[in-house]
Amino acid sequence: MLLGVIADDMTGATDVALMLNRAGMRTLQVIGAPAPGAALPEADAVVVALKSRTNPVAEAVADSLAACEALLAAGARQILFKYCSTFDSTAQGNIGPVADALMQRLGASQAIICPAFPANGRSIFQGWLFVGEVPLHESSMKDHPLTPMRDSNLMRLMGAQTQHPVGLVAHSVVSQGASAVRQRLAELAAEGARYVVTDALDNGHLMVLGEAIAEHVLLTGGSGIAMGLPENFRKAGLLPWRETATHLSAPSGRAGIISGSCSTATRAQIAAALAAGIPALKVDPLALAEGSQKPAELAAWALAQPADSPFLVYSSDDPAEVASVQDKLGRERAGETVEHAFAETARLLVAGGVSRLLVAGGETSGAVVQGLRVRTLEIGPEIDPGVPWTRVVDGPELVVALKSGNFGAPDFFLKAWNLLR
Ligand code: ADP
Repeated sequence: MLLGVIADDMTGATDVALMLNRAGMRTLQVIGAPAPGAALPEADAVVVALKSRTNPVAEAVADSLAACEALLAAGARQILFKYCSTFDSTAQGNIGPVADALMQRLGASQAIICPAFPANGRSIFQGWLFVGEVPLHESSMKDHPLTPMRDSNLMRLMGAQTQHPVGLVAHSVVSQGASAVRQRLAELAAEGARYVVTDALDNGHLMVLGEAIAEHVLLTGGSGIAMGLPENFRKAGLLPWRETATHLSAPSGRAGIISGSCSTATRAQIAAALAAGIPALKVDPLALAEGSQKPAELAAWALAQPADSPFLVYSSDDPAEVASVQDKLGRERAGETVEHAFAETARLLVAGGVSRLLVAGGETSGAVVQGLRVRTLEIGPEIDPGVPWTRVVDGPELVVALKSGNFGAPDFFLKAWNLLR
């Protein structure tokens, strides 16, 4: 293994794994903190997907260190701590405390902070993080239920989460190339800056930064900063050129879609699937909660559909219906009821011969993957930006695509199958 990645959530892990895969590294995604002493599978890069963005700081640190140990034991030469491109965190963390712990474990003297992802409109200018045309604190992230972002200055945001000084490499330096960046980083190190925010306005800047930090043992950032890393390993003669597969050979078997996402993009995708005549069953969360609808019935319905077409089982609904269900069950119970039902349904579907599965929704994906006891995913071709097909390496014969709610074009549920052979 060349590169080890510790990602603070599941769909973020898939995002960075896809970035590395597209840049020519064979990448695996491992789900959850590895148990002490457990060996990781062999690949150019391994991404450990944690759920450490919003859990208690001590737990996030412990899981991240466990992931780091496993990655080092597997031979990782460089560790990337991957967080969201909108720096999702609270004043307490978890980005600062996790980065501090990794820095100490790795004996790193300096690490960059670069959540920039220009292709998705996240850019950094003079250390300020922008989402499209507005600073982070004016974007919809200001109202996020768990991690409301009320500041956009990354030096201040990180400064509130760590005792270490935080410096800046501005775009004027990044524009001059990798050796100028290295020189500025060394100057900042001499001034005591353990963390350095790096400006990045476009992919060219990310490539320069990737080159400049080839020797850093610890990096922190969004999936964008991964873009320039594979080239370092190729230049060092450690990584052969690998073509990115455009298709994935999938086990023969039935195809199905499970959707617990109520996001706008998913609802448009469901509308397109219904219009195309895909057999569909809408699940009623209240009936699930009172036990009058059961996962076994959902699976039996799905497996009774014609085998030559994908089927769709969904609970996705518009905001008013979701609010009404949440009024009756409570927000948490509504979510858990649907997630548990879909996890069990997925298990029954795979036992019944489904080998190609699309799952819509971040939390829903987490629940389904857990229900299927999947530990490792091999990253395959990209269906739409940020969403690859993946193959289960250590579980049932299955290919699966985990779609974060707002990702994917309206025809996602129709076209995804074209990438499978
Ligand atoms: P997204 O990625 O679109 O946010 P998630 O799966 O992360 O999707 O979150 C959707 C949440 O809503 C899940 O907890 C899911 O169980 C819950 N949910 C799904 N359908 C309904 C519904 N009809 N009413 C209430 N909650 C629902």
